[in-house]
Amino acid sequence: MGTHVSINLWLDPGHSAAEAGEAMQAAFDEIARLETVMSEWQPTSEVSRLNAAAGGEALVVSPELFRVLERSVEVSRISDGAFDISFHGVGQLWSFKPGARPPSPEDIAAKLPLVGWRAIELDPATRKARLAKPGMMVGLGAIAKGYAVDQASELLRARGFVNHVVEGGGDTYVSGTKGGKPWMVGIQDPDRKGVIGALPSSDISVVTSGDYERFFEFEGKRYAHILDPRTGYPVEESKSCKSVTAVAPNATDADALTTAIAVMGPVEGMRFVERQADLEAILITRAGEVLISTGLLDRFIWAPEHDPARAASPPSKGAASHGSSNPGTDGKDAG
Ligand code: ADP
Ligand code: MG
Repeated sequence: MGTHVSINLWLDPGHSAAEAGEAMQAAFDEIARLETVMSEWQPTSEVSRLNAAAGGEALVVSPELFRVLERSVEVSRISDGAFDISFHGVGQLWSFKPGARPPSPEDIAAKLPLVGWRAIELDPATRKARLAKPGMMVGLGAIAKGYAVDQASELLRARGFVNHVVEGGGDTYVSGTKGGKPWMVGIQDPDRKGVIGALPSSDISVVTSGDYERFFEFEGKRYAHILDPRTGYPVEESKSCKSVTAVAPNATDADALTTAIAVMGPVEGMRFVERQADLEAILITRAGEVLISTGLLDRFIWAPEHDPARAASPPSKGAASHGSSNPGTDGKDAG
C-alpha cells in the first residue's frame, strides 16, 4: 500500500514475547494478503478483476472485498458523493509523483462520465458486485488501508492480545490500554516535525490524512492526491485542509471519512462532522487554524507550544476550553 505499518503491543502477564511476535507477524501477513486483494494497481487483484468486468456480468467477490465495497457506497451516500471509489475512472489519468503533469482537460472530460457511485451494484444475498458502466473503475486507496488496519487489530485480539495499536500510513486503530492507561495518539504538525497535540484513545480509530505527503507542482499550481469526484480535479488548494483527522469506531470508516472531509473542505467538512453520530474530527486549515469538533474539545491535549491558552493571541475556534495541557504527554506513543 506504499506505506509503513507499525504495531505496538502491551504484553500482559500470561503471554510470552515469542507469542506476541508470532501474532504481530500474522497481523503483518494479513495486511500483505489484503493488499493483493484490494490493490487496483495489481492486475491480478480481485478489485482489478471487478474493474475488468465493468459493464458485464456481476462477480461473486470475497467477503473482505464485499465489505469494503459496502462501506464505500455507504460513505458515498452520507457524504453526497464527496467520497467515491469510482473516482478512479478519472483518477487513473493522474500521477502525483513529483515532476508529474496534469492530464489534459479533454481527457478528464472524456472520463468524468465514468464516475458515479450509484452505478456500483451490490447484492448482499449472493455477495455479487458489478460496476454498471463499461470502462468504469474503482480504486480503494482511501479505504483499503483502514480496513487492513482493522483486520490486523481483529487478528491480534483473536489471539488474546487485546492491548495494542496498529498504525499504517496515518491510519490508527487503538485497542484496549497501555497498562491500564489510554494510549496517546499524536496529531502531526503539518508544517514541521512534531505534533500539535494528542488524543488519549482506547477502542477507537484515529486517522489522519495530510495533503503534504503526495502532490506535485506545475506552472505555479499545487496538485494534491485527493480528487473532487464531481470535477475530476484535485481539491482546490485554497479550499483544502492541510490535514484532516477523523475519529470513528473503526479505521475503515475513519479512513474513508477523512477523504470525504478533505473533499468538502474545512467549513462544509466540520458541519458534516457535527451532523454525524460516531464521528469527530480535527482539521488544520490552510491558514494553520486548528478546528476541533465538539466531542473532542475536552479530550484533545495540546502540545505546550501549540496550546492556544498559553499563546498571547486569542484562541481559535473550539480551543477556548483548554485551560491547561497535560505535562508528560508527548504524543510519541502512537501515530
Ligand atoms: P492518505 O493517502 O493520506 O491515506 P486518503 O485516505 O485520503 O489519504 O486516500 C487518498 C487516496 O484515495 C488517493 O491516493 C486515491 O487513491 C483515493 N482517492 C482520491 N480521491 C478520492 C475520492 N474523492 N474518493 C475516494 N477515494 C479517493
Ligand atoms: Mg482516507
